[in-house]
Amino acid sequence: MTPLIHIIPILRDNYCFVLEGEQGKSIIIDPGEVLPVKSYISQYALTPVLILNTHHHPDHVAGNAELKAKYDIPIMGPKKEMQQILHLSSGLSEGDTVYQAGVKLAVMETPGHTKGHISFYCEAASALFCGDTLFSMGCGRLMGGTADELFESLQRIKSMPTDTKIFCAHEYTLDNGIFALHVEPTNTDIVNRLNEVRKLRTNNLPSIPVLLESELKTNPFLRETNADRFAQLRFQKDKF
Ligand code: ZN
Ligand code: FE
Repeated sequence: MTPLIHIIPILRDNYCFVLEGEQGKSIIIDPGEVLPVKSYISQYALTPVLILNTHHHPDHVAGNAELKAKYDIPIMGPKKEMQQILHLSSGLSEGDTVYQAGVKLAVMETPGHTKGHISFYCEAASALFCGDTLFSMGCGRLMGGTADELFESLQRIKSMPTDTKIFCAHEYTLDNGIFALHVEPTNTDIVNRLNEVRKLRTNNLPSIPVLLESELKTNPFLRETNADRFAQLRFQKDKF
């Protein structure tokens, strides 16, 4: 079935996603904080059945233990980061399928930000939960993986259907857009997207999900076709 996708702002600029499947049964992706997730779930009378993690960073996993205990549910995350993520019930790798509450998610390994980073693709909802791999108009920093790995991960995302909705884990879009415009000063798609994002953020609304189609026009990291220039760009953004 097609899940209803809830976006919960957590911490300073993270998003936790809750995928509501059959009878309110829900999958929680990247609970980096407990309280806002707990209160959202009770407000909407959802029944969590599973926690998923994209990678091991605290802003994505810090709520794991408490939510696991509260709802008595398993946690699944990247097999390659099982050492770093406490409380994982089982590990996920490329090609695995998660099927819970009538919701099917395909696991893609998308290393680069971290060595074992994974993303979840829900074909029914045309939705990609890509953690800190791809951001709107940007991408994750190298915090364990290599530039080549991140480049390849982005190339893979690039080849997905253009109507894929990108649910990234951070609200970095404004800052990313300013850098994107610095890289491509004459790109009017970036100018338009920045204007749209400024409006959304002024009204305290998330700038995501964003269509892959839009990212293909506005994200310099996705638009770069050369791995070495991509590495340069990533380095340039770190210093920006
Ligand atoms: Zn991270
Ligand atoms: Fe993060």
